[in-house]
Amino acid sequence: MDYEVLVVGGGPAGATSANFLVKEGIETCLIERNLEFNKPCGGGIPSAGLKDLELLDEIVKELKFNSIKKVTITPPFSEPIEVEFKNGEILIFNRLEFDSFLRQLAKKNGANIIEGELVSLEEGKIIKAIIKTKNGNIKTIHCKYLIGADGVNSRVCSLADINKPNYFWTISFQIPSTNELKTDCCEFWFGSSQASFFYSWVFPGCNYLSIGTGAEKVNILKSLINNFIKKRFSYLDISKIKFRAFKIPRWNKGSFHKKNIILCGDALGTVMPVSFEGIYYAMKSAQFASEAIKQKKLELYEKLWNDRFRRQFSIMKKFQDYMFGNDNRIEKWLNIHRNPHIQELAMALWLRKEKSKNLIPLYLKAFGSLISRIALTQVKINM
Ligand SMILES: Cc1cc2nc3c(=O)[nH]c(=O)nc-3n(C[C@H](O)[C@H](O)[C@H](O)COP(=O)(O)OP(=O)(O)OC[C@H]3O[C@@H](n4cnc5c(N)ncnc54)[C@H](O)[C@@H]3O)c2cc1C
Repeated sequence: MDYEVLVVGGGPAGATSANFLVKEGIETCLIERNLEFNKPCGGGIPSAGLKDLELLDEIVKELKFNSIKKVTITPPFSEPIEVEFKNGEILIFNRLEFDSFLRQLAKKNGANIIEGELVSLEEGKIIKAIIKTKNGNIKTIHCKYLIGADGVNSRVCSLADINKPNYFWTISFQIPSTNELKTDCCEFWFGSSQASFFYSWVFPGCNYLSIGTGAEKVNILKSLINNFIKKRFSYLDISKIKFRAFKIPRWNKGSFHKKNIILCGDALGTVMPVSFEGIYYAMKSAQFASEAIKQKKLELYEKLWNDRFRRQFSIMKKFQDYMFGNDNRIEKWLNIHRNPHIQELAMALWLRKEKSKNLIPLYLKAFGSLISRIALTQVKINM
């Protein structure tokens, strides 16, 4: 056996698991297809999430980021709602820098990192993985556990015959942030004219704006993003913009592991419904999976996840299924956030990573009959 654990994919999930494992003295190799990959992503991460992962101090010391001071949420038919918060509750990172930093941490602590792609695997008590390295060499790695952290199009899932997550489509692009565009505000725009079962966003990075929208079908993306640009950035010349379409998982509890093959992050679909936040949850899934490997009890992985997140994910999925795709419902739901008390609850739930168990009932109660269907489901979940 070459390694105890082979991690496939060096994004937030893969790099986090490799770092955790080597810190526990477990021999680990991570393979990443492209060490220069800059994933199309808003790069927004709540600082409370990084604190929870015990990474905040180190990351803010080492990386550039934009610190967000307010959020505007624009409902389909009414004026934007502005929510201000303490400086630094959302940090925006460049994904190339963020992912590289996490991989470097793992490397510093002893992980072997190879730039290469998983091409095939043979399952068994000892897994045999075939890797094509960047310079075209074929390498065989034997390992006891394999972590599939290779994203929403997971090849590990395909090769091991595990269902891949469902997904929405996003389309996004970046523009340099000129002086008049420099901002510390994240914008969320709702309404079916520019987003379908999703929202459109403007996230300001250090020297660029990340702009995009999402939909359940790929063929409507182009017209939705064009509508959004016309509404928000009417002066932009669309013909010069380079768009990128990318899938984002739609949470639907899948298999956490199949024997000694374990899935983390987008490969498992751990993106929070409604907010579509994925980085923190990918890293938490990696932490839980690594803990289960450390204890040699793989069932522990799903238990740790369920104890911490199952309820919030299930309820928010129901909430999303009911609310999204219907402008009138979204309008009513968002307008309730004009109340400062509801804003505070929502911020605690989405950003502060406080134990959601106590907050979800309070948050849902605030919507009264609007979401009575969801509240009823919640009662069933509690039972
Ligand atoms: C447009 C967009 C905007 C988003 N904005 C945000 C946001 O602002 N905040 C947030 O929290 N989340 C956001 N998300 C979600 C977030 O990007 C993901 O949830 C997160 O990146 C998941 O991390 P991961 O490590 O599981 O997967 P990924 O980040 O996708 O990493 C997978 C890695 O595996 C590598 N790989 C793939 N196949 C192979 C192979 N065969 N062999 C070796 N390596 C392989 C890839 O190169 C990649 O580096 C956004 C997503 C999209 C699409």
